[in-house]
Amino acid sequence: IIRLEGVQKVFHTDEVETHAVSDVHIEIPRGQYVCIAGPSGSGKTTLLSLLGLLDTPTAGTYLLDGKPVSSLSGRERARVRNEQLGFVFQSFNLIGDLSVAENIELPLTYRAMPASERRRRVEAALERVGMSHRGRHLPAQLSGGQQQRVAVARAVAGEPLVLLADEPTGNLDSKNGDAVMGLLHELHRAGTTIVMVTHNPEYARHAQRTIHLFDGRIVEESQHERGA
Ligand code: ATP
Repeated sequence: IIRLEGVQKVFHTDEVETHAVSDVHIEIPRGQYVCIAGPSGSGKTTLLSLLGLLDTPTAGTYLLDGKPVSSLSGRERARVRNEQLGFVFQSFNLIGDLSVAENIELPLTYRAMPASERRRRVEAALERVGMSHRGRHLPAQLSGGQQQRVAVARAVAGEPLVLLADEPTGNLDSKNGDAVMGLLHELHRAGTTIVMVTHNPEYARHAQRTIHLFDGRIVEESQHERGA
């Protein structure tokens, strides 16, 4: 479902050239749960941003569901991002003055979708993450773990081709972190393709496969029996 060919990202700042991602080839089949690991500065977030169409590569090709997306215009990229990708970030990124239900609905309002369908999806997503009773709450009225569950609900309400998660447990204690990981595990079992960045080796073992980065390059790949 994802194919990167010779993808590179170079940043230029103050005459310094940083090769954040170099010559990366990755193929991810539909339904796979993949972890991206590596030390700080190895390019994990940059790679996830490229996969998420939040950034464009300086070289190489990105095929998403068989279509080349690396050369799309900004507007087209935003459309593909909104319709085909779901995001979960370390810092939840919920909008503070919108209710839980409104946060989940917001990305759907940019699509041609009747209000009744939007509401159906919001309710189904809330139920999926065990937060049906919290739709009218504001994010600040929820614990961090609950906020991250809402962020997962927002990501899956769009029924994305791929769910991208950047350190989704980074701001959570171990109990809430375990709960969010359990949720991702369930989504994977239900067929969602997931790409997750994590520093936590225990959580990495939830995935079926880990791609190890070092200095922007893939240095190792491992498969896990426990994943799936
Ligand atoms: P961490 O685990 O600390 O989040 P990471 O593996 O996610 O690190 P990246 O954030 O992808 O690493 O950064 C890879 C390299 O690219 C680093 O050297 C970083 O300084 C550089 N870099 C990332 N974003 C930019 C940017 N917008 N401008 C310039 N350099 C950048």
